[in-house]
Amino acid sequence: MKTLLRRIDSEIAAGGGKRSKSRQHVIETFFRAGTHVTVEELTRTARRGSRNVGAATVYRTLKLLARLGYATEHDFGEGVRRYESNLSPHHDHLVCRKCGVVSEFKEPGIEMMQDEVARRHGFRPTTHRLDIYGYCRRCAPGAREDGAR
Ligand SMILES: [Zn+2]
Ligand SMILES: [Zn+2]
Repeated sequence: MKTLLRRIDSEIAAGGGKRSKSRQHVIETFFRAGTHVTVEELTRTARRGSRNVGAATVYRTLKLLARLGYATEHDFGEGVRRYESNLSPHHDHLVCRKCGVVSEFKEPGIEMMQDEVARRHGFRPTTHRLDIYGYCRRCAPGAREDGAR
C-alpha cells in the first residue's frame, strides 16, 4: 500500500499536482473501501478518519485516479457514478435495475470468446467492460424466495 501510494503521489507530482494530505487520505480510503463506491459514499468513509474532507476533493481525486488508470468509472444508470479500484482482478457485473445491487462474476468462457472475436477482427484488446442489466433473484418479477420457477 505504501509503495503504491508513493508511486501515485509521484505521478501526480509529475503532472504538476501539489502534494495534499487529504488527497492522500482519500486515495488510501478508496483502495481500502473495496468495490463500486460513489463520491458520496467515499466522502462519508473518508470523514471517519479525518473530518475535513470535502466531496469536491473526493470527486477530483477519483477523476484523477481514473485518468492515471488506477480506477474505473462506472455508470450503472443510477444517475450517479461509481468508482472501482483497478487493483482488483478483472471481472464483469450484474446490475439489478430495481434495487441497484451490483454483483461481480468471472466467466473464463466469456473472456475467451471476447478475445476470439477481437482476434477475428484483427483487433488487439486491452480491456473491456461487460455490465449485464436486469433483475436480481429477489427483484425478478414473479420471483419466489426459494428461486423456484
Ligand atoms: Zn434487486
Ligand atoms: Zn466490479
